Amino acid sequence: MLKFSGKSVYKGVALGRVIVLRKENCQVKRTRAENTEEEIERVRRAAEQTKSQLARLYEKAVREVGETSAAIFEVHQMMLEDEDYLDAINSMIRTEMVNAEYAVAATGDNFSEIFSGMEDEYMRARAADIRDVSDRLVRNLTGEQETDMSSMEPSVIIADDLTPSETVQMDKEKILAFVTVYGSTNSHTAILARMMNIPALVGVPMDLTAIQNGTTAVVDGFSAEVIFDPTEDICQKVRVRIQEENEKLQLLQNLKGKETVTRSGRSIRLYANIGSVSDIGYVLENDAAGIGLFRSEFLYLGRMDFPSEEEQFQAYKQAVQMMAEKKVIIRTLDIGADKQVDYFKLGKEDNPAMGYRAIRICLKQPEIFRTQLRALLRAAVYGNLSVMYPMITSVWEVRRVYQIVEEVRQELEEQHIPYRIPEQGIMVETPAAVMISDELAELVDFFSIGTNDLTQYTLAIDRQNAKLDDFYDPHHKAILRMIRMVVENAHKCGKWAGICGELGADLELTEEFVRMGVDELSVAPSMILRVRKQVREIM
Ligand code: PEP
Ligand code: MG
Repeated sequence: MLKFSGKSVYKGVALGRVIVLRKENCQVKRTRAENTEEEIERVRRAAEQTKSQLARLYEKAVREVGETSAAIFEVHQMMLEDEDYLDAINSMIRTEMVNAEYAVAATGDNFSEIFSGMEDEYMRARAADIRDVSDRLVRNLTGEQETDMSSMEPSVIIADDLTPSETVQMDKEKILAFVTVYGSTNSHTAILARMMNIPALVGVPMDLTAIQNGTTAVVDGFSAEVIFDPTEDICQKVRVRIQEENEKLQLLQNLKGKETVTRSGRSIRLYANIGSVSDIGYVLENDAAGIGLFRSEFLYLGRMDFPSEEEQFQAYKQAVQMMAEKKVIIRTLDIGADKQVDYFKLGKEDNPAMGYRAIRICLKQPEIFRTQLRALLRAAVYGNLSVMYPMITSVWEVRRVYQIVEEVRQELEEQHIPYRIPEQGIMVETPAAVMISDELAELVDFFSIGTNDLTQYTLAIDRQNAKLDDFYDPHHKAILRMIRMVVENAHKCGKWAGICGELGADLELTEEFVRMGVDELSVAPSMILRVRKQVREIM
């Protein structure tokens, strides 16, 4: 029996046989090219073929995991058009007189090494994308077929790392779990695993050469552990847990269409958190009463330039229309910290989590903010749209935001473009906002408590740093007292207060939140029915 711990990407339990994906270090041979121009032409043709494959993969990913997660394949297509990358390949062919395969593989290695060495976690995660694109290009040059993973038995996939395209090509019915040696919880593969609801662990320090195909493994996304060759006793216990999990999921289905109300009749608004319009399917499927956090910054990630006003307008409009009259709270862009986007040119910071992010960018670069606000005010005409602003620390910030909203409103008015001023709230995710929540409550329509950041700033613990996991205690009394204070201050002004951080879905705290008077809980779509069940059991 062998046991390893890693980082959990998705909480779930699986038991099954292992398939070890060993990627032989691309055995690309270096040969001398007599006709270098012919090699360059081969690269061009292979790049075209690769682009069409990626376009097909994009379509498949949109259907299966939604637009946001699929966007990575568009990024891959763009990488194939990147002049630095292509010039580097062509110049290697010319100057070193080498074959196309070798030039592509070597350039891919060089670029991916550069990305792996970057400080920024998001950029480091892109190293896998470069390798993915280069490997695909090499395969197309050699005419090699891709491994067909669709015909395998339901299995636990073990690998050094998985590229997003490998992940999305797998038939999700056939995957019991993913376990990888490398990869961050922020990688696109992790995002895909989460969207596919597949138990997954990354950063597991296992030696792949010591693991045989067909070995039995238990993957526990709750304890972030994988056990190879478990004892029969462990297998038996895990089977019971899997059965229990399935039964719970089945039972939860009965709660669809029911109210989220305590036995004594107190109603809680139970909303869902989403990253893109394509996630709305999960929201409706799980019967959420609305959307409590639409992380609009996902519209800005994984692309080369800002989304236009029109593109944003269409996305927000579609969201409110799909949700009919249900509330859709769209958070203005929360770029910065762990969500880095090249074209924002934010520059390097020593403390990005405490740095130039979210509303700070919007107030310093109002032209970016105005575009988003125009799209939001226009989309508000089509449904029950609310807006909320992230990372607020001071009253002046809210006043300045309102001034910009007013300027945008006047502009739309003058241009005779239909608009509506939506309900406007703020995220309470800094200790400063908590401490002045009495003053802020007078200014805003609602509070939504972002416990993920509130915990990191209150406990002075970087939420990205896995080494500090033992210290990251969202149940800390300081956090719970802050939540209570925010709710009380909101109510004194006749405003409502909700929680949209991960803590909102913490079933151990549901009753405490209800007793504190929390009005709304916004949680991952897969948690909606579990939280509803918990609320309905409260006296
Ligand atoms: C939070 O900080 O709790 C929150 C909901 O925002 P995010 O996790 O996107 O920072
Ligand atoms: Mg936050």
